[in-house]
Amino acid sequence: MPAEAVSLESCLGRILREDIASDSDYPRFDKAIRDGFAVRAEDVAGVPAVLRIVGESRAGLAASVAVGPGTCCEIMTGAPLPDGADAVVMVEHTEAVSDFTVRILRAAREGDGLLRRAAELRAGEIVLSSGRRIQLADIGPLARFGKSEVLVSRKPRVAILATGDELVEVGQSPESGQIRNSNSYTLHAEVVAAGAEPVPLGIGRDNLEDLRSHIGRGLQHDVLLVSGGVSMGKYDFVENVFAEFGVEVLFESVSMKPGKPTVFGYRNDTFVFGLPGNPVSTIVAFRMFVTPVLQSLLKSAPSGPRMLRARLETAEKCDSARTAIVPALVRFEGESYWIKTAPWKGSSDLAGLSRANALVVLPQAEGSLQRGDLVDFLSLE
Ligand code: AMP
Ligand code: MG
Repeated sequence: MPAEAVSLESCLGRILREDIASDSDYPRFDKAIRDGFAVRAEDVAGVPAVLRIVGESRAGLAASVAVGPGTCCEIMTGAPLPDGADAVVMVEHTEAVSDFTVRILRAAREGDGLLRRAAELRAGEIVLSSGRRIQLADIGPLARFGKSEVLVSRKPRVAILATGDELVEVGQSPESGQIRNSNSYTLHAEVVAAGAEPVPLGIGRDNLEDLRSHIGRGLQHDVLLVSGGVSMGKYDFVENVFAEFGVEVLFESVSMKPGKPTVFGYRNDTFVFGLPGNPVSTIVAFRMFVTPVLQSLLKSAPSGPRMLRARLETAEKCDSARTAIVPALVRFEGESYWIKTAPWKGSSDLAGLSRANALVVLPQAEGSLQRGDLVDFLSLE
């Protein structure tokens, strides 16, 4: 994806495409971090000490005086330290003697109550690197460095097409044999969460003509997701239409369950996915294959491992033909994550998925895994 400039107010969650360097030293000057009196530490080594007040330094208005022996300057948090002073005594540790003199009650050492110039950052130091997903805590630095506009990756536009003669819209009541289209909404949310821009294409019906017109439109975007119609059924025409449009298919079946009928290819600059229609399969296939493609398009730097490791709470039988990626419940206890498969009734059981908080990966293997064995999982939270 090319980079584009967006306003500071709208860059949260976007992928940064420039290195952000500090525009100056921070703090820009030796600065008070207490309200009180700027002093020479040697004058207040022995207390109480009475000092003459020679001026005032407030935030935004530096004192035009210097602090010499036996004198001090009233100072507020954020104000520049006057010349000659090397410590700030907080006002709570002083008492007024007259309008022009103050009694210091506690000794201060050089550097107390202040932050030296460049203590936080030096001018030119890189604070945020290209590829970073902009987080809440990054907004402050961007503002501080004067970045009213920020260069970020343009969001890939991801066309989403549901297919099936049985599908009705969410606002409709299914009649016999019909179900509501949930995949379009699941995929819409997944695309947003992955930092891309969904382009809803509605529902395509299980005939060549209708699929042609929808898929033709979808191929004009950066990525096309088609859900359903990629299995072995008599009315699964999606791959035929991909072929008609000259989509170069790289794979059309994955040894994974659920999610076996997952198709991936490209045409020109468009990446094309045929995702299995079963709602849980669609999500699993999206997480395993679409998310990494979107991250790569966005030039997003990996932020931590995608998979974490947990110990199995109970023995699990493996499948010798396919890797199983199943809804699971994970919790942290002692020094590791513990995980067990969640109750669910197969790849259409959306409620079962919703009750889970992770997907556990049970590797393709003969036999079983035992309690305590380490497995990979993907968090759903
Ligand atoms: P298919 O891959 O087209 O054979 O669909 C597999 C199963 O997923 C069928 O039971 C479909 O009814 C169901 N399904 C397909 N598309 C959707 C969708 N958009 N929303 C919910 N369920 C779907
Ligand atoms: Mg179908």
